[in-house]
Amino acid sequence: MNLIALGEALRDRKEKPYRLEQAKQAYYVSLGTSWEDVTSWSKQLREEVAAIIPWDTMTCNQVQESAQGDTIKFLLTCTDGSKIESVIMRHKGDRNTVCISCQVGCPMACAFCATGKMGLTRNLTADEIVEQVIVAARWLQERDAKVTNVVYMGMGEPMNNYEEVMKSVRLLNDPKTFALGVRHISISTCGIVPGILKLADDPLRVNLAISLHAGTDETRSKIMPVNKAYPIKKLLQAVDTYLEKTNRKVLLEYLMLRGINDTREEAKALAKLVQHKKHLYHVNVIKYHDTGVFTHTEEDGRVQFVEWLREEGVQVTHRRTFGEDISAACGQLATESRKAKS
Ligand code: SF4
Repeated sequence: MNLIALGEALRDRKEKPYRLEQAKQAYYVSLGTSWEDVTSWSKQLREEVAAIIPWDTMTCNQVQESAQGDTIKFLLTCTDGSKIESVIMRHKGDRNTVCISCQVGCPMACAFCATGKMGLTRNLTADEIVEQVIVAARWLQERDAKVTNVVYMGMGEPMNNYEEVMKSVRLLNDPKTFALGVRHISISTCGIVPGILKLADDPLRVNLAISLHAGTDETRSKIMPVNKAYPIKKLLQAVDTYLEKTNRKVLLEYLMLRGINDTREEAKALAKLVQHKKHLYHVNVIKYHDTGVFTHTEEDGRVQFVEWLREEGVQVTHRRTFGEDISAACGQLATESRKAKS
C-alpha cells in the first residue's frame, strides 16, 4: 500500500486523519486483501480511493514451496514491472522468518551471490519492502501461522538504501501497524561502514549481521569487491563502535567455499579478529549454495571448521539450509528475467 499517496488522497477529500489509521489497521493488522476490507469506511469513500490507489503495490506472480515444505519463495512484480523475491523459512516450533529484499538487484557484485550478477536496477520504497512481509503474513495466516522474524537478507544491500530500509523497520515495528519487536528484525550488510555507524546511532536497536566470509583481506578481496573500500580492520572498527553503543551481539555470516576460505589458517585468522570481544560476536557457518561460481565445502569440512573456531573460543553455529531445491537459499535469489542475462 502506498501510504503517501493514500494520505494525500484522504487530505484532498478533507477526510479526518483517523481514516488513514483505519486503512492501516485493515491492511497491516487484519491483513485485508482489498479496499472492501476497510469496513469502517463508507462504500463511497472505498470506491473513490480504490479508483485511484491500488490496494497492493506489488502482484505475486509465483509461489514455490520446497520439497520439505519448510521454505516458500515468492516472486513479486512491482508497478514498474521490476521483479523481486522474498522467502519464508518455517523453523521448528512456531517461528517463521521472512527474508526480504530491499533493492531490485544489487551493485555490490559479491562473487558467490546470484543477485550480485544482476547489477542494480533501483532501490525499493519502504512500502514495497514492508509489502513483502504482508504477502508472507497473508500466506501464513491461511495456515494459522504468523510472521515472527524479519531479516533483510534478500536481494540488495540495505545500507545502500538506508532511509527506506529504516522507514520500513519503523513501519514494521509500529504498534498500530505490524507491531513486530525490533529484536525480531535483523539487517545484514556486506560491510558498508558508514551504514553500520549510522545504525549504531539509530534509536531502533535492530540486530546487525555482517557478511564476512573470510578471515583475511587477501581472501575477502577475492570474493567481495566491497573489501577494497572497507577492508576487514576498518569494517570491524565500525562494528566495535556499534557494539560499544548498543551492547548487542553481532552475527558474522560465513559461507563455506571449498579451497577458498575453509582452511585452518583462515579459521585462526577469523578467531583472531574477534578475540577482543568474543562474547559479542557470533559466527554463523553456512553451506554455499550453487550459483555456478564456487564449490561448496562438504559437511565434514564445515563441521571441522566449526570445531577449529570452537577450539579458539569463538561462539559459532552451523546454520541449517533452507530451500536449496527452489533456489531460495542464501545467495541464490535472483529474478528469472535477469538470471537469463547473466
Ligand atoms: S551478498 Fe548481498 S551485498 Fe553481496 S551482491 Fe548479494 S545481495 Fe548484494
